[in-house]
Parts: sequence; structure tokens; C-alpha cells
Amino acid sequence: MRQIYLDHASTTPVRPEVVEAMAPYFTEHFGNPSSIYPLGQEASDAVAAARESLASLIGATPREIFFSSGGTESDNWALKGFARANATKGRHIITSAIEHHAVLHTCEALEREGFEVTYLPVDEHGLVSVEDFKAAIRPDTILASIMFANNEIGTIEPIRELAAAAHEASVAFHTDAVQAFGHEPIDVNELGIDMLSASSHKIYGPKGVGLLYVRRGVKLQNLLDGGQQERGRRGSTENVPGIVGFARAAELAAEEIVPERDRQLALRDHAIRRILEEIPSAKLNGSWESRLANNVNFSFEFIEGEGMLLQLATRGICVSSGSACTSGSLDPSHVLLAIGLPHEIAHGSLRMTLGRDTTREDVDFAVDSLKATLQNLRMMSPLYEDFQQGKVESVIERFKADGFPYAN
Ligand SMILES: *Cc1c(COP(=O)(O)O)cnc(C)c1O
Repeated sequence: MRQIYLDHASTTPVRPEVVEAMAPYFTEHFGNPSSIYPLGQEASDAVAAARESLASLIGATPREIFFSSGGTESDNWALKGFARANATKGRHIITSAIEHHAVLHTCEALEREGFEVTYLPVDEHGLVSVEDFKAAIRPDTILASIMFANNEIGTIEPIRELAAAAHEASVAFHTDAVQAFGHEPIDVNELGIDMLSASSHKIYGPKGVGLLYVRRGVKLQNLLDGGQQERGRRGSTENVPGIVGFARAAELAAEEIVPERDRQLALRDHAIRRILEEIPSAKLNGSWESRLANNVNFSFEFIEGEGMLLQLATRGICVSSGSACTSGSLDPSHVLLAIGLPHEIAHGSLRMTLGRDTTREDVDFAVDSLKATLQNLRMMSPLYEDFQQGKVESVIERFKADGFPYAN
């Protein structure tokens, strides 16, 4: 059966050009970058070239780029490293309610260390208000961390305005740009970003490698004490093939960033329009205007997300839902709850994230399959029947009794 992969926000396949660039660093150029002989120097040169290339893509200098094991590690390092190194100046941090768990759970860990964290609410589109942000800044605020773009609903935050507001109050500004890096043009100076996290496997590079940009002069605790790698901030022998692959993936992304974004944006809007027109009680989650070009996220009333995903999977379509059922938790997504969806609706949500290889045929097939799947599920749903027959009272009673409607 043909597989249609529409889950690029989860991860992406490694591009053949990237595999090719990495291959020699597993074999003939296997040296340790810290070694003095030519084999080591080849590896060291490759890491330096990758650092230079990645730095130039975001308007940074190579000394401001630190390699890590991925987005999660970069977020942990930025927040814990900054908070601990600057605790004498204050212990208050501002973030948003819709951050990735790599930021949210790190903030919770910092709260256990005695830091105070404000989790800013978002509006129904998932946008952080600049006014709310300004109002949350206190004399003891040292750091703000607001994601560039949300991984579930694709909302792009007003980073330039938020960073400017932070700087007015001498607050450092970090952004988790894992979903935006390589997808949206980013210049750290133009936007006023002090720290930025990015990850390779979201941009057709290998898993297990990422970067943290740290503006010159920003004080950060070491992540790993050990050797002199990453200028002594993160000891451990560099992931040379991974770093080389990450840089190659980023260079390739940069070459086509605007045309590829526009291509995906047209496909995204085609999918959104078709779903709104053809599927009853479908609701677009997130902002349509300020949205990643590859993100489609919908809620469907009277539908249970897991049933929907399973049926779509039998048709070869890989997508994800707004609930974390599949990962062992029955809690609906904190992002969907934060934009105001009730629990039972947040459970019936679907995220499709397009990629470089996605065609219009793929999108049409996915929407056709979704239509058929929802018709099936709704036919099986006693609630939907009652609802259609106008027995609203009965629906409400059952909601109260059962929590949220299962399709079967
Ligand atoms: C995927 C993702 C991460 C985690 O990145 P890893 O490289 O998988 O650790 C962090 N933040 C956002 C917004 C993400 O989408």
C-alpha cells in the first residue's frame, strides 16, 4: 500500500544529499576532532565549516553556535543554563502555555529549584499578546522563552515585538525555533533573539543533533563539564557525521526556503479550504494568517481522535492527533486546551503537516480519506445521530455522563 506521510512536524526523512555528505565521516574521516594529526584535523575542519555555515544562515557568528543532541537539549540548556548563571539578578521567567514540553517541563524543573515562572495564556488563534507579555515583566524577570512557531497548530508568534519588549526591560529572549528553522527565514539580529534552539531532524537532517545559538555576552552555565569541546561548555566528542549532515540539510533548506514555503502554503490552503467546505462541523485550529506553511490542524465534533488516526492509518495515511493517546496518556493536548477547546473536542483533533515531497494528489487523497473516515465514524456515533435529529438535550446529557463521546 502507498504510504502518504503527513507528519513532518514529528520528523522528516533524511535527504539523500545529506546522507551522502555524512557518509565519509563514519568511515574514512572517522577521526576525533580533538586529535592533532590530519585525520583529526579533517574532522575538526568539517565541524568548523558546519558551524560557520549554520551561523551564517541565521546571521550569527560561528562562536555563537553550540552543537547539542537536539531541540530538547538546546531548550534545557538555554533555560537551565541561563537561569542558574543569572540567578543573582532575579528568579522570574516568562514563557507561554503552548510551548513544547522541552520548554514547559524544563520550566517546571526550574520552579522546583526556586525559580518563578509565568505561563502566559494565548488567544483562540494561539497567539501570545505583546501587551500581556509586557505586563508580565517584573523587576526580577531575567529570561523570556516564547516559541517561534507552535508544533501542533503552526501559529507563528510575534517574535520581533516580544524580543523588543524583553530588551526594553533588560530581559534576555530565547525562542524554541525547532519548527521554524529551515522553514521560515530567520535573522537573529534583525529579530533581536538572544538564544535560539533548532533541531536537525525537523529539516531533513539526521536525528540526535541540534544547535543552540547564544548571543555574544549572554551568560550561560556549562551543559556538560568535560573536555574542551564547544569551547568548554559542552564536553564530549562531537557528533561529526550528525553535525555535517545538519549543516548540509540547513544549507539545502536555505536554498529553496521561500519557493518551497510558498508551494506548501498553497497546498495547505487547498487542504484547509476543502476540509472547511466538505466536512461538517470542522474547525480550523490556530491562526490562518500567522501560520507555518506546512501545518493543517482541525477539530471535528463528535469524533474521537484515536479512532480517526487508526482508520486513516489503514488507508496508508500517517498523521497525528491532538491528544497524546498514542503515547500512553489520555490527556488532550495542552495546546488545544490553551486555545479554548473543550476536552471532548480537543480529543477529536487531527494534525497534518506537509513536507517537501507532498503533492497536491497526496493532499487530495488525504482529504478524501478523511471525509470517508469521518462519515464512517459519525455513522457509528449515537451522539451524532441524536444531534442530527435535533435531540440536543440528549447529547448534553450523554456528554455529562460519559465525559466525551467515543465513536464506537
Ligand atoms: C521536535 C521539537 C522539539 C524537540 O526536538 P528534538 O530534536 O526532537 O529533541 C522541541 N521543540 C519543538 C517546537 C519541536 O517541534
